[in-house]
Amino acid sequence: MSRATREGKETREEKAARIRHLLATEGESVERNTKGFNAGRYDAVRELSDYEELKDEARAIKEDAISRLPELIEQVRETVEENGGTVYLADDAADANRYIREVCDDADAETVVKSKSMTTEEIDVNDALEADGTEVWETDLGEFVVQVADEAPSHIVAPAVHKSRETIAELFEARFDPDRPLETADDLTAFAREFLAEKIADADVGMTGANFVAADTGTLALVTSEGNARKSVAATDTHVAVAGVEKLLPRFEDLSPFVELIARSGTGQSITSYVTFLTPPGDAPTLDWDADTAGEGDRDFHLVLLDNGRTDLRGDDQLRETLYCIRCSACLNSCANFQHVGGHAFGGETYSGGIATGWEAGVHGMDSAAEFNDFCTGCTRCVNQCPVGIDIPWINTVVRDRLNREGDDRNFDFLVEGLTPDEESGRLDLQKRFFGNFSTVAKWGSATAPVSNWLARTPGVRALAERALGVDSRRDLPEFKRETLRKWFESRGGTRVEGANSGGTAAGVREAVLYPDTYTNHVAVERGKAAVRTLEALGVAVRIPDVPDSGRAALSQGMVSSAEAQARACASALAPHLDADRDVVVVEPSDLAMFRADYRKLLPETEAERIADNSYELFEYVYGLLENGGDADALRGAERETERGEQIGYHSHCQQRTLGLERYTTAVLEELGYDVSTSDAECCGMAGSFGYKREYYELSMEVGESLREEFAGDAQVVASGTSCCEQLTALRDDDVPHPIERIAPRN
Ligand code: SF4
Repeated sequence: MSRATREGKETREEKAARIRHLLATEGESVERNTKGFNAGRYDAVRELSDYEELKDEARAIKEDAISRLPELIEQVRETVEENGGTVYLADDAADANRYIREVCDDADAETVVKSKSMTTEEIDVNDALEADGTEVWETDLGEFVVQVADEAPSHIVAPAVHKSRETIAELFEARFDPDRPLETADDLTAFAREFLAEKIADADVGMTGANFVAADTGTLALVTSEGNARKSVAATDTHVAVAGVEKLLPRFEDLSPFVELIARSGTGQSITSYVTFLTPPGDAPTLDWDADTAGEGDRDFHLVLLDNGRTDLRGDDQLRETLYCIRCSACLNSCANFQHVGGHAFGGETYSGGIATGWEAGVHGMDSAAEFNDFCTGCTRCVNQCPVGIDIPWINTVVRDRLNREGDDRNFDFLVEGLTPDEESGRLDLQKRFFGNFSTVAKWGSATAPVSNWLARTPGVRALAERALGVDSRRDLPEFKRETLRKWFESRGGTRVEGANSGGTAAGVREAVLYPDTYTNHVAVERGKAAVRTLEALGVAVRIPDVPDSGRAALSQGMVSSAEAQARACASALAPHLDADRDVVVVEPSDLAMFRADYRKLLPETEAERIADNSYELFEYVYGLLENGGDADALRGAERETERGEQIGYHSHCQQRTLGLERYTTAVLEELGYDVSTSDAECCGMAGSFGYKREYYELSMEVGESLREEFAGDAQVVASGTSCCEQLTALRDDDVPHPIERIAPRN
């Protein structure tokens, strides 16, 4: 289905049906190709000893270029004109198309050949030219395939990533009726090459994009996998290059880190097949295919710099980073949701993947961004993969927040005034409000358990929850515990470490606050108890104070004001403990990610810094204790000496991996005698509330399937994240606990 055919607001059912259709028709090809690119990227960047330095350098160049954009536009205008070309700064798509049509008209162009350019997709230049009767051919193989199929690209670098060899063969046979069978990939490529070679030879105008433009020399850098940009330009007398203004870099030398990074980050190639540097119009002779000698005409060059909302993006403090994007596609290929549905679901009018939210909001508007914004679960797996360090999940969160507030009419606030615990307006979608306020739901659930659990399971309530809140009936709901972790802790008299009591702690005894996240406190209480026993066995005096929700649930729903308010309350509750030099130990990785990363966006810098510096993931902390003389024999692994070598499958959590903390759990489990296998699948597919949502349930299960297969041979599996435990429990039909429950002393 072409994205262009989607109109109006879909119901949850309609969205679920569309996702189901795409999973069935395009999912297999998208998964094979994107996972292949992603694996290639890991290998390709490993070859770069200075990968992180290159990323920093690229980021600094982009920050500088965007800050000086007006100056660079003037500079490139002068440079290109000195070189003999023309620069046109187009306000929007219509303006750009009007100019390009005039250029083609002046050149009496009957045929235009193009190399791959998402910016020309953005302005729909093909439609504009074809309306004038000009023939337009895409010369990039993937673009050619989607052009013939009359579809939108499903990926910003590999437009036909959703098509299998077989479907392309059927397409070519139906459209061109070739005189030989097209059975192999080589047959298909050879056929397209021959067909397009004729079109290139006949063309009057060559159109390209530009990956980068050096303002000081007017040089275009074009990165292609087939060399078609070079051919399209060399074979025609008139060259039109269309580039967003953000493609400008100050100096020719600045191209270097980007050339190193772009292909490696995208398709995993050490260097893509063709990197072309053009400083047009150049003085190479024009070609006359009918004569024996070279043509004698001058080459004509037009650089169309497109604004189309980019100036506004530049002035938007929250979305400005979008302009640093070099469209390498690493964030698409590393995203579990994208790997399964591709850009026809996870994409807007032109752009696809997580960063597309910023692009679409900027160039096409919020309606386009709204179509797919919720496919980003905020898992953060893309953040470290982005060669220019863009915080892609934050861009999605900001856009989600703005979408939540769209048409914000304070007149509706009386509907929710005093009834909701959040900071949002009466317009907020009920599903988002429900999941964003899960801590309130959990408090009520525990206070009224077991009635709440019984009630939630009744068919009538499940049906109502699905209809009103979009909570899929096929998901098991969390079971609230009447005795919360905090109540249990108080009822046992607090910590049992010698020398520590409620009145104070003896000198030399290490103190830690165990952060009572909503799930550990109200649902997965056993893992909280196991954490207390483990820390105490290693001599840590534990406290579990009344600390409110970190704001994670609200942030995941784009409820930024609510998340900010919760972050402030949480920081205030933690402050006296930080003042008393207590460490903060966190069981749930997504809450740790709040403390270590997201709070930098929500709290004053020094406050955020302090919490980040003093908070630890549970196994990171246990590892540190063992490294510093903690007695491993005090833990349960040592009690089970005879079972050493026991196999265990361990699945880390997305945000835990992003923070580089997976290794601590593995190391501790191994020290305690386990033979640990870890998962290659980076995402379980549940992603907090995502897997509960009616419209995404099937996608969530499909993503989780890879993980289920990986652990199929493991008798016992553990996982760090609440969502991961829930998803794996559902997929394996077997309880999957947190690893702390495997190593904690029994009492
Ligand atoms: S956001 Fe980063 S990873 Fe994604 S396409 Fe842009 S540059 Fe590449």
